[in-house]
Amino acid sequence: MTEDRCPGSWCEIHRDRISHNLTLALGLLPKGRRFCAVLKADAYGHGIEQVVPLIQAQDVTCIGITSNTEAYAVRTAGFTGTLIRLRAATPAEITDALGARVEEQVGSLEVAQKLWDLKNAGHPVRAHLALNTLGMSRDGLEIATDQGRITCLAIVKMLGEDVVGICTHFPDNTPASLPTASDLFQDQVSWIIDNTTLDRSRVLVHAGSSLTLVADQPVKTDMYRCGAILYGILKPELGFQTTMELKARIVSLGHYPKGATVGYDGAYRLRSDRRLACVSIGYANGFRRDVQDGAALAIGAQSAPVLGKVSMNTVVVDATDLDSVEVGGEATVFGQTGDTRNMLGKTEHQFRTIMADLYADWGLRNPRVFR
Ligand SMILES: *Cc1c(COP(=O)(O)O)cnc(C)c1O
Repeated sequence: MTEDRCPGSWCEIHRDRISHNLTLALGLLPKGRRFCAVLKADAYGHGIEQVVPLIQAQDVTCIGITSNTEAYAVRTAGFTGTLIRLRAATPAEITDALGARVEEQVGSLEVAQKLWDLKNAGHPVRAHLALNTLGMSRDGLEIATDQGRITCLAIVKMLGEDVVGICTHFPDNTPASLPTASDLFQDQVSWIIDNTTLDRSRVLVHAGSSLTLVADQPVKTDMYRCGAILYGILKPELGFQTTMELKARIVSLGHYPKGATVGYDGAYRLRSDRRLACVSIGYANGFRRDVQDGAALAIGAQSAPVLGKVSMNTVVVDATDLDSVEVGGEATVFGQTGDTRNMLGKTEHQFRTIMADLYADWGLRNPRVFR
């Protein structure tokens, strides 16, 4: 949903802040390294067709996606640079993606075979050999085993110079793990270069995400692939700004007596007479049902505690102590209020998950308003 009439809840997308974050991220890039802007999950819920022009405006020449819908949206937006898929694809997806010139990950002989067939049918093919360096065990090829090394050599033999990249994805970016992961990846790349006809100078070696870029640790990679950093959910102390706000409207105000229960199952009971506000956002709009006790919305500059269970499209808050509240007024679930680090931590705790999950979910479940 990108348009709606008088929406009860909506996401405000701040394009200027995405551009600002991109500028800061590019400034952190070590000299000579490339940058891949990761726009999977519809640009982390922000709307991929709206974000592509911002990426192009700063001359970024590589974009990462996962689905074919995203790949075609990026091309439709006019992007002519490198488009990499950041997960393994099915044979059907690979065929369907030909028109968007997607560079595929290859971590198995089956995918290599599929790409080889396409090449023989006259299609240009560009592949990135995906390795399982330190335990993602998601879709990368594990070459710590003899079998894995045999498969690796067979893939490279089959695809030859169509292997234009070697990549991995680190499972964590803590100082305790990152140097080990980086060294191991480097060793694996060297082993491949030494045992195949691949030319290191013609292969893009890439690993590392937003957390790697801000980790302050030297990592051997030709390119960082960054998503989260563009959307301001990491390192606000470096000046990154949150790019999405989630808002809803107060749709009812009423007085309820001491002893009344609130919401389904009567799970909450008023301990005194209260003025309650019903706000038009619920779990169907991404205000999750398993929200933590102590959750709150912002109304004006004040915090309004959530009471009882979250309904499908509404939630009830205690508005008794609010200075200014009226039907039709705004309530903010997540927005640029006060200390950003604090706000990110509170929101992640409140919804028991990480901001990337929330952004992607909110963006899909609500109309988006672009600023
Ligand atoms: C999602 C993803 C990234 C970007 O991760 P962020 O933490 O959002 O920067 C990079 N590489 C791969 C393979 C990914 O799946």
